[in-house]
Amino acid sequence: MPELPEIETIRTSLAINIGASITSIDVKRDDIMRREDFPPDELYGQPITEIRRRGKYLAFLLGNGLYLVVHLGMSGRFYMQPEAEEISAPHVHFIVYLDNGRKLLYQDARRFGGIWLCRDTERLFALMGVEPLSGKFTTGYLAKIAENRKVAIKTLLLNQQLISGIGNIYADESLFAAGIRGDRPAGSLTAAEIKRLHRAIVKVLKKSIQERGTTFRDFRDGFNRSGNFQNSLQVYGKDKQACTVCGGIIKKEKIGGRSSHFCERCQK
Ligand SMILES: [Zn+2]
Repeated sequence: MPELPEIETIRTSLAINIGASITSIDVKRDDIMRREDFPPDELYGQPITEIRRRGKYLAFLLGNGLYLVVHLGMSGRFYMQPEAEEISAPHVHFIVYLDNGRKLLYQDARRFGGIWLCRDTERLFALMGVEPLSGKFTTGYLAKIAENRKVAIKTLLLNQQLISGIGNIYADESLFAAGIRGDRPAGSLTAAEIKRLHRAIVKVLKKSIQERGTTFRDFRDGFNRSGNFQNSLQVYGKDKQACTVCGGIIKKEKIGGRSSHFCERCQK
């Protein structure tokens, strides 16, 4: 699933379309529309003034103050293509035509994601937790949400109502970087461990953004190109392989129902 670094990579790669106006929208499948506060043609002639990211959501702000919001679910892609170029990709469910000679395509074989046309994003984003790369995500905040909690620390990191944008890949990678096992009760982490984990989360997310995200299977940026952070992964998807730090074997087990990768020697 695309997580914070992947959505951020799509956001920055699509920024060249800021200022371009929407000429038309083609909804190929109605079930991809999650909310329509207004019909799509209310966006016609409106320029894209800003592209924002909140957690794993991408929000296009239009000149008339309306929003087109995209969530890529498990396997979605959102990328641009020259308008004249024929669409050869399968499962393209939603197309935004722009007046700059490009079109934006939403492609998703599994359709866990969707499109929201909304007058504001407050309701949609109301329950979302802090952005891990914002000033609100501090060591103190992480300590506060972990305090006295019996839930596994990994499950806590995946809770989008507490921290938004971290999914399975970056939870596993951050816990490895911090040397902490994901199945530890959140409340059992010491102050030093919380500090290490906080630093690891920020570092791993920033490094992945620099590397333009992780392409494990599906992720593509706004140019329909793969990311590079898969080359920097230490544990995610590495089960039965040797740990690059200690040479031990990376294990894969379920934590809170999610496949989790870790090194028993490096993570305590
Ligand atoms: Zn190790």
